[in-house]
This record gives sequence, structure tokens and C-alpha cells, in this order.
Amino acid sequence: TAAERALDREAAAIGRVMKIRLYPFVPAAAEGVTITDVDGRSYLDFIAAAAVVQTGYRHPRIRQAIHDAMDGVWTAMHCCHPNTHTIDLAERLAAMLPGDFPKKVWFGTTGSDANDCLSRLLPRATGRRRLISFIGAYHGQTTGSALLSGHQTQADVIGLGNVTKVPYPDPYRCAHGPCSRDGCSLKCLEQIKYTLASVSPAADTAAIILEAVQSDGGDIVPPENFIPALRRLCDETGIWLVFDEVKTGLGRTGRWFAFEHAGVIADAISLGKPLGGGLPLSAVVGRHELLDVDTYNLFTLGGSPAPAAAGLAVIDVVSDENLKENAARMGELLQDGLRHLARKYPIIGDVRGRGLMVGVELVRDRATREPAGREAARLAYRCFELGLLVIYCGLYGNVIELTPPLTITAQDVEKALAIFDEALSDIAAGRFDDAKL
Ligand code: PMP
Repeated sequence: TAAERALDREAAAIGRVMKIRLYPFVPAAAEGVTITDVDGRSYLDFIAAAAVVQTGYRHPRIRQAIHDAMDGVWTAMHCCHPNTHTIDLAERLAAMLPGDFPKKVWFGTTGSDANDCLSRLLPRATGRRRLISFIGAYHGQTTGSALLSGHQTQADVIGLGNVTKVPYPDPYRCAHGPCSRDGCSLKCLEQIKYTLASVSPAADTAAIILEAVQSDGGDIVPPENFIPALRRLCDETGIWLVFDEVKTGLGRTGRWFAFEHAGVIADAISLGKPLGGGLPLSAVVGRHELLDVDTYNLFTLGGSPAPAAAGLAVIDVVSDENLKENAARMGELLQDGLRHLARKYPIIGDVRGRGLMVGVELVRDRATREPAGREAARLAYRCFELGLLVIYCGLYGNVIELTPPLTITAQDVEKALAIFDEALSDIAAGRFDDAKL
């Protein structure tokens, strides 16, 4: 097939380190939530290119915005000369972040560089050297370049090695015993307090950084009272509370930002993935003290005109087409349907999520909760064969993640659930050849 030929060429030409391949899929065209491969087969895309395609593929307003920007001086890089698309987007993003304090914006090209910017500037802005983040979190891959440099830029890499990882509260796998999402005793918070009294002294801790739904860690939704309690702890200790909204941000969870569900204020956030409408763009939005520190932190292509124009169009489309509201509604429909399937298939241990960031945790045994990672790989592959694209994630690779475009309809949800049902039934009956994996 054409897909096999492309994959053979890819294997010969492109390094393994830059790809995740769960099944032999090579896209050729896409429209809305449907993506077609090089052999002409169509699939319902419940990955949305790793949660990038917020507004569906080939949205006319985003294409138009990019074309218009391309007709301007789209190669005039913001690092040297300001351009109005980038300034417009900065103003929009600053206005979207809740909180009654002066805000500023920084632009990069990937989620990783936005989080790099945070980890570098937070210690400088606060005068505190340490950071706290969470086990299971994926925040990115850069920093090596600065450490390699023989330049001022490497002098700014402080805080590195001063990051303490604490457990993310997982209601399904809580080490402190049974826990419900809305009424948790928050034993894990004691562990964070202990960390602040020992290895990462509060007076030397700049920020606690987390995802309000830990996505790559397994789409874990923390107990309702966790983030508000974390905010109180930060207020008491003068520590900044910072959210990585690279995957959860811009409407996916039903609000602009996932942390807003907790009713708290963020001191700063990072954004990426959908921000450039598929073009490379990331941002940090936060207190102006953070982004006005006396140093340089810039990337040549950060905040270029065309991605910034696309970003403005993404925000407009999410607003004008009520996509946050649709994400909330479709997410509920999807989770209800999955819970219904859980009654039929004991392999489904947990269904959770916020809006259209949904996880289905697979287990071999509901009593022991033994993770079913191999089964997740089979299920994703079988869904692919039946016309639905899904991915799996989590510390044990046993959580099927569903992050469709925010434009999906109830019929799309129904179709996806029907395929998921059939795939689950095939896997349960052993109708799958592991040689394919
Ligand atoms: N933060 C989160 C929450 C992510 O999910 C990712 C990518 N999976 C990143 C940061 C890194 O983004 P990028 O791959 O664009 O560097």
C-alpha cells in the first residue's frame, strides 16, 4: 500500500527518536474531524494531531488568517522587529488570563521552550532558586542547547537540578487509600508541605508548576479540593502557582484554561500546541515581573507573524463558534457513553476527564487495578483498523486518551463510541494478532 511505502521511506530517512508510531497511518488529507490516509481510507480523528487541531482541520478562518499574514512581511521575525499580529495576540492572551494584576506575554515555538522559559525566568523573577513539579508530568525536552552554549544564555540556567518532583494526586491510584474526586483528605498536600520544610525550603522555592489535568501522565483529574488547597499553600508561603496549559489550554476542558475549573488565580501559564493553529507557536502569559526580568530569553522564530495571526483566529473561532461550551457538552456525552461501556467491559477500570480531554484507564483486574498496557496498545490498533484514531498514555501506557477537535458533534461521539465498543469486544474475545504491534 501507499502507507507501507511511505513508512518504509520514513524508517530509512527519519530518526526513530522523533516519532511515536502506534499503527501504520500516513495522512494525506483532512477536513473537520475526519482525516484520510494516502490509500484513501477515512478515519475519525480523536487525537487531533496531539491536541493541536482545536478548531477541526482546514478551518476556513484560520487558513484565511494565515494567508493574509503571508501576504504581509511574514518573514520579519519578532525578535528583531515588532509586528502587529504578535502584539495583538499578546494583548488578547493577557486579557484572557484571570487576575487583577499587570500581565505580559512571551512567545516561543513549542511547549517545551515555553516551559524552559518558565523554569529559567521564575528563579530570576522571585529571587528563589527552587521549583516543584509533579511525577508523571510531561513539560518538554529543551535546555541542553543553553548548557552547551558558551554565552550569557547559559548563565541563566539556574534552577536546573533544583526541581523537586512530588506525586500528582490520582484519585484512582491514591497511595493513601480510597479517595473520591470531590472529598479528599489531601494527604498528598502534607507531602508537599514536608517537601517545603526539607529538600525545597519554602523561602527558596520560586514556584509550583503543574497541569490542572495531568495529560500525558494519564489524563488524571485531581480531587476538586486539591488545586484550591495548593493555591492557599502558595499564598501562605509566597510561592508562585504556575500551570502548564500547553495541552489543556484554549478551550479543550470547557474553559479557556483548565486551572479555571478550580476557581483560582494563576501567576503564570504556558501555552502551545493549538495556539498557532498548527503553525509553531507557544507562549508564557503571566505577571509582568516574570517577563520583564533583566535578561534575554528569545528564539529567532518565536512569535512570528503568521503563527500569531493564526493564534488570533483560533481564539476568535473558539469564541464565536462556542467551542468551549461544545467541548463541555461533547465531553460529558463521551464520558457517559464510555461509562456505559465500562458496565460491559471489565477491562475499563476508570473513565475520567474534563471536557474533551478524556482518559480511559484499562486494568487486568478491577480489584488489584493491575495496569493493562499491552491491551491498550491492541485496543488503539484495533480502533485504527475500524476507522478511529486514538492514542494511549500514562505512566503504565494503559490509558486510552481521547482529545478530538472541539468541533465534534453528537454523531461523531456516537460513531466513535460504536467503534470503541466493537474494538473492545474484539480485544476481549482475543481477536487480535499481537504480531501487528
Ligand atoms: N507540556 C505539555 C502538557 C505537553 O503535553 C507537551 C507535549 N506533549 C509539552 C509541554 C511539550 O510541547 P512540545 O512538544 O510542543 O514541545
